[in-house]
Amino acid sequence: MTAVPRRLVGRCAVVTGAASGLGAAIAVRLGAEGARVAVVDLDEARGADTVARIEADGGEAAAFGCDVADAQSVDRLRGEVIADLGSVDVVVNNAGVLRDGGLLEISDADWDTVLGVNLTSMFYVARAFVPDMTAHGVGSIVNISSRSALGSAGQANYAAAKAGVMGLTASLAIELGPHGIRVNAVGPGFFATPMTDSVATANGRVPEDQHRAVASRTPLRRVGRPHELASVVAFLAGPDASYVSGQTIFVNGGALTASPIRADDEA
Ligand code: NAP
Repeated sequence: MTAVPRRLVGRCAVVTGAASGLGAAIAVRLGAEGARVAVVDLDEARGADTVARIEADGGEAAAFGCDVADAQSVDRLRGEVIADLGSVDVVVNNAGVLRDGGLLEISDADWDTVLGVNLTSMFYVARAFVPDMTAHGVGSIVNISSRSALGSAGQANYAAAKAGVMGLTASLAIELGPHGIRVNAVGPGFFATPMTDSVATANGRVPEDQHRAVASRTPLRRVGRPHELASVVAFLAGPDASYVSGQTIFVNGGALTASPIRADDEA
């Protein structure tokens, strides 16, 4: 792997859903770039491994428990992060969940959960941390959307949330740009994580078979590796993206609308 640039020295970054999968890879990458990292997940203990990985690289991090779909929990998080790590410059809204099903199978509760964790949480987290960014005249928010934002059978709840992320991102970029805050999104294709493993298991498949199926219809002929998403998030978070705002960058091995839409594979 090429040497990691130190573009975030002196910055403080919040990464949600950072105990697992893509969030953990993003937190580790931001730490390696020099940021102090708030590793946020449902409970503090689950973030310990990510914190240990950042510290093993010589970085600084702390774990925080927060349900990002709960406004009060997010407001508490703001106070705890600022007390422990100082004011926040970078927010990565990554936490997400799936509750897949066809239109007639998705319960009201599953609809609300998916919209709450994947979309409304980003409103809560931005609302909590933006005033500090505005006060300093600098900040970068990166929201995790998905290829599924473009439409995905059996995932209407998830696709609606992820399309909402794109709209939220574009709107906040316009609103917050005059305050020096950039807002972007990334739309992952398929990355092997506990989330995608759970989709394979739910469909009676082993993850390796699922990876082969996705790879066969992906132009780069393989699934994504979490560090390959983390590097794009780090670029957007840092000074090399100083004139990039309001964008959703798809990171998908070339597979966009060209791939068949298959809810049994995608996250
Ligand atoms: P993951 O391995 O399941 O990690 C998501 C993390 O978020 C988990 O630690 C999860 O905890 C946590 N989380 C869930 N609800 C939360 C809440 N209310 N508050 C705080 N944390 C919460 O999933 P992933 O694959 O890394 O996905 C990360 C993001 O990328 C998600 O937004 C996902 O939609 C998006 N994405 C992933 C893919 C992919 O191929 N992997 C593709 C497109 C988009 P629990 O484990 O307890 O639920």
